[in-house]
Amino acid sequence: MKEFNRDYLEFELDPRNIVIVDSTLREGEQAAGVALTLDEKLRIASYDDEIGVDYVEVFTEYGDRERVLLESIRQLEFRNSKIQVWNRLRKSDIDLCLKYDFEWVSITAGFSDIHLKSKFRASFDDLLQSCLELISYCKEHGLKVSLHLEDSTRTPIDRLIKILSEVDDVDRIRDCDTVSVLIPIAAYNRMKLLVDNARGIPIEVHYHNDRGLALANSISAVMAGASSISATWNGLGDKAGNAALDEVILLIYELYGIDRFDLSKAVEASLYVAEASRIPIYRFKPVSGYDVFSVQSGIHQDGILKNPEIYQPYPPKLVGREWRIVLGVTSGTHGLSYLLASRGYKLPDDERKVREILAYAKSIAESKKGYLDEDDLDNLARRFNLENLTR
Ligand SMILES: [Zn+2]
Repeated sequence: MKEFNRDYLEFELDPRNIVIVDSTLREGEQAAGVALTLDEKLRIASYDDEIGVDYVEVFTEYGDRERVLLESIRQLEFRNSKIQVWNRLRKSDIDLCLKYDFEWVSITAGFSDIHLKSKFRASFDDLLQSCLELISYCKEHGLKVSLHLEDSTRTPIDRLIKILSEVDDVDRIRDCDTVSVLIPIAAYNRMKLLVDNARGIPIEVHYHNDRGLALANSISAVMAGASSISATWNGLGDKAGNAALDEVILLIYELYGIDRFDLSKAVEASLYVAEASRIPIYRFKPVSGYDVFSVQSGIHQDGILKNPEIYQPYPPKLVGREWRIVLGVTSGTHGLSYLLASRGYKLPDDERKVREILAYAKSIAESKKGYLDEDDLDNLARRFNLENLTR
């Protein structure tokens, strides 16, 4: 994939590391109607660790649900993941974190006009001062700090540059496209400005998907120098959610050669989160959608059977999956023959008869509004008295 873009980029996509933050346990549960049990949350965190996700984000202790998660998650022995605890701009929140002895905290403030005026009801200088004081407090207690800049994509760039020039002690800045205003080329140019002024402080992107651009904007920002992406399993999150974690790690593998994440386990995690959240995965969701490697069209079936690379975005094995030929309304005789052979049946040599069988198969597909399953294929073979080579 990389080579097809190379001629059109003004820079090289050299191998580099990108830190991944899974926000499912915080952001994902903000998706309307999602309610995860403690066991489910711990399983998701364990998946993150098994896959190699760098940070698992949770809320600080606001009530019993958060408290039991914090108490339980710190008992897990992670090999790869660290816990990052999300806080409001309050010393009392940080004190709750200190109680649990976590290393990483994030603190949140928004400097856009609307956040200053209507949410924080503070001037820019006063809010920045509060941030700096809380960051100092965290650092005095030996914490690593991510400064979560809510709505930063609607914040004037000179304000962001001022913030970057003042926050000497933070370990990461989180840039948030809270209401999804970015488009990819702007995300790139804007991030260049931020990185040029960040004095080496790593920048994480936390971009929302209200306009379907979370992944595109995240990767554009990474190309401009952002070093970390916040994502959630299946893109679950507030409103239209965020970038989907499995899609993020596939893309950074392809672009930057980052192969430390277990992609086939990522598909398993995606399916698990779909079940736990009761939010089914769209059948054609990239990477983990049930039918993204199902081939129905006759022309494509012919191609895939000759050489999968004719229509292959990436080898399905990369994500622990396989190509599948299915028989539906747009299928052709190659697919029909292949599928019947897989059940042990042989099509007759008579072309007219084959066309008749295909037409009947399509009528079944149309009436069931789907593709044929194994029973349908067996019934088809019986109806047309096809020879079974396995008997
Ligand atoms: Zn968010």
